Amino acid sequence: MVFYGSKASKLKEGQLINVKCPNCIGGQTMHYAIYGKYAYVYWIPLFPIGKTYVLECNHCKRTYNLKELPEQIKQKFELEKTGVRFPLWYFSGLIIITLAILVATYLSKKDDENDTLYINNPRIGDVYSVKASQTGYYTSMKVITVTSDSIYVIFNDYEIDRKSKIYKINKTENYTTELDGYSKQEIKTLFEQEYIYEVDRD
Ligand SMILES: [Zn+2]
Repeated sequence: MVFYGSKASKLKEGQLINVKCPNCIGGQTMHYAIYGKYAYVYWIPLFPIGKTYVLECNHCKRTYNLKELPEQIKQKFELEKTGVRFPLWYFSGLIIITLAILVATYLSKKDDENDTLYINNPRIGDVYSVKASQTGYYTSMKVITVTSDSIYVIFNDYEIDRKSKIYKINKTENYTTELDGYSKQEIKTLFEQEYIYEVDRD
């Protein structure tokens, strides 16, 4: 199955009057059509590629492309083709991609804002994703006590090699090991240094 390629659609058509067909004696009018060409992927138009022009003598039915015609006809046609634009739907794919990027950027920014908010106001049950400094792996720690200036956490027993896979080891039964305490300021610093790179709160 071909899932990408190019297609054409008619953008405009009309008549040229008072033109002399180079091929026959009687021809004085021509029919013209302007086609737009666009690239598509899976039926979704991505972006325009160009335009083609077809002119046909109404009398002898010979078809011409623009290059073959005398200057006088070209000039008349020039007036017809000015202002013919690609419709917006030719850009559907590009519009979808741009919107998706904007949404993803917005969500990621929102997520970062929440992380900062959570770091500044720690709460019992918060889970910090952290970079394990010695192994280069990733692990997590869970907040179990919050005092006026400090927090206490327990560490996850496991580490994982991918930043984004931390959810796989974030299970209640995995938090059994060392208890550790930090001042709230230390936690902020660890977050600024990206040692803590994500905060999850239910
Ligand atoms: Zn003709």
